[in-house]
Amino acid sequence: MLYAIGMNFELTPEHLMLKDLCRDFARKEIAPYADEWFDAEHFPVEVYRKMADLNLMGLLIPEEYGGTNAGTMAMVVALEEIGKVDQSIATTLQAHLTIGSLPFLHFGTEAQKKQWLAPLARGERLGAFGLTEAEAGSDAANIQTTAHRDGDSWVVNGTKCFISNAGTPISYGLVALTTNGKDESGKRRYCALIIPKGTPGYTIGRRYKKIGWHGVDTREQIFENVRVPRENLLGEEGSGFRAFLKTLECGRISVATLGLSLAQGCLEMSTKYALERKTFGKPLASHQAIQFKLADMATQVEMARLMIYRAAWLRDQGQPFATQAAMAKLASSEIAVRAAEEAVQIHGGYGYTREFPVSRFYLDSKILTIGEGTSEVQRMVIARQLGC
Ligand SMILES: Cc1cc2nc3c(=O)[nH]c(=O)nc-3n(C[C@H](O)[C@H](O)[C@H](O)COP(=O)(O)OP(=O)(O)OC[C@H]3O[C@@H](n4cnc5c(N)ncnc54)[C@H](O)[C@@H]3O)c2cc1C
Repeated sequence: MLYAIGMNFELTPEHLMLKDLCRDFARKEIAPYADEWFDAEHFPVEVYRKMADLNLMGLLIPEEYGGTNAGTMAMVVALEEIGKVDQSIATTLQAHLTIGSLPFLHFGTEAQKKQWLAPLARGERLGAFGLTEAEAGSDAANIQTTAHRDGDSWVVNGTKCFISNAGTPISYGLVALTTNGKDESGKRRYCALIIPKGTPGYTIGRRYKKIGWHGVDTREQIFENVRVPRENLLGEEGSGFRAFLKTLECGRISVATLGLSLAQGCLEMSTKYALERKTFGKPLASHQAIQFKLADMATQVEMARLMIYRAAWLRDQGQPFATQAAMAKLASSEIAVRAAEEAVQIHGGYGYTREFPVSRFYLDSKILTIGEGTSEVQRMVIARQLGC
């Protein structure tokens, strides 16, 4: 379904309280250190512990499993405030809240939810989603990591690449998509398996050197005859691929929000700079060319926000939201890339130095059109809905 009526985007008093809490937290606990952490490629474990104390790590998880069940709009509001200041922290948080935790909520047994989901929702552990491989990014169905049953165990072999959140001091491991043969009709079968850190044969590779997202822990995950108990199967045997695709739907709302927050951050920094910096005897903000850049940026930020709110609202109403999430992710990530470029332009030479945070936002922006489905993949998802 592409269209829904009866939208209400008004933030509730709870959303507004959460927004204030996150803005205050980001200003005091993150902003003063964000550039230093970025340059040192530091993963600030203590920040996630503090966010756990503020009940931010289980926003989409019901109370009975340790979360706050605050909802998708609440997640968007929280991520926007944090992402305006630090994209690495917002990224780690969003991956944890959606793709890292939702597979347990949607497909886990009661016992799996108690054992694995509750520590994630309480923020004692970080959630990670193991889909991508060397030959399977956009072409996700082409994964080569295998799992076969041996008595009461699953034995896993293969390598996942670009996996965020699985290699930190607070990671529990990951949920990995594996393939295990074909069904009677010749279709490949997939299984989602919980692979805990420390399992013999499971090696966590070195951190990638990335253009941006320096505080996001992204690594290869190598499985050599990794044996996990039969009960680590998440969802039904053979249904893993569908489970992973379903999980990505909400992931797209959270990545879209990273884009929104990045663009909003760029708008705020650029407006402030344009009001302060003088050229030709007057503030930059008095030159119409600069005013138009800011006006375009503000307009696009608002477009991104409305699209994200709509996708989030649909999800909170229990309505289909996959197409709106893909549209929001596509639009918002591309808006973020443009906003970052214009923000550097407005800052001139200073924007090209690491003295100003806009340069960090510029470096963090490009991944948004790639991670959790590239812009091309989002277009494929949208075109499929159009009947193409
Ligand atoms: C920093 C970072 C963090 C990540 N974190 C995770 C994570 O936590 N978990 C995880 O599973 N993955 C993660 N990823 C992987 C990410 O989701 C993939 O990189 C992404 O889906 C693209 O896959 P690929 O890199 O293999 O590119 P490819 O699939 O090889 O695509 C290359 C280019 O070709 C285009 N393309 C491919 N096929 C088509 C087509 N049919 N039509 C038109 N264009 C096409 C793509 O859009 C892209 O522009 C992460 C990646 C990065 C860089």
